[in-house]
Amino acid sequence: MVDEKKCITCGACVSICPVGAIKIVDGKATINPKKCIKCNSCAQFCPVGAIEIKMDEDSDKTPKKTNK
Ligand code: SF4
Ligand code: SF4
Repeated sequence: MVDEKKCITCGACVSICPVGAIKIVDGKATINPKKCIKCNSCAQFCPVGAIEIKMDEDSDKTPKKTNK
């Protein structure tokens, strides 16, 4: 999630994202959750701490073990 109130549109997150999941929309960074692999790079690079990646959501995507 990008906190639009904090984002200063520096573009750092757009450059750092390895999968191109971030775009500047209407002057604010916007993360495409379908592309995001939750690497957390953008959150670390954002100079104003506007990005928070929620790792908890990963558990939903974890493949369930099936009996093969
Ligand atoms: S967590 Fe990683 S993949 Fe997701 S938007 Fe940030 S830089 Fe891109
Ligand atoms: S790195 Fe932070 S301040 Fe810069 S564009 Fe991305 S969200 Fe906005």
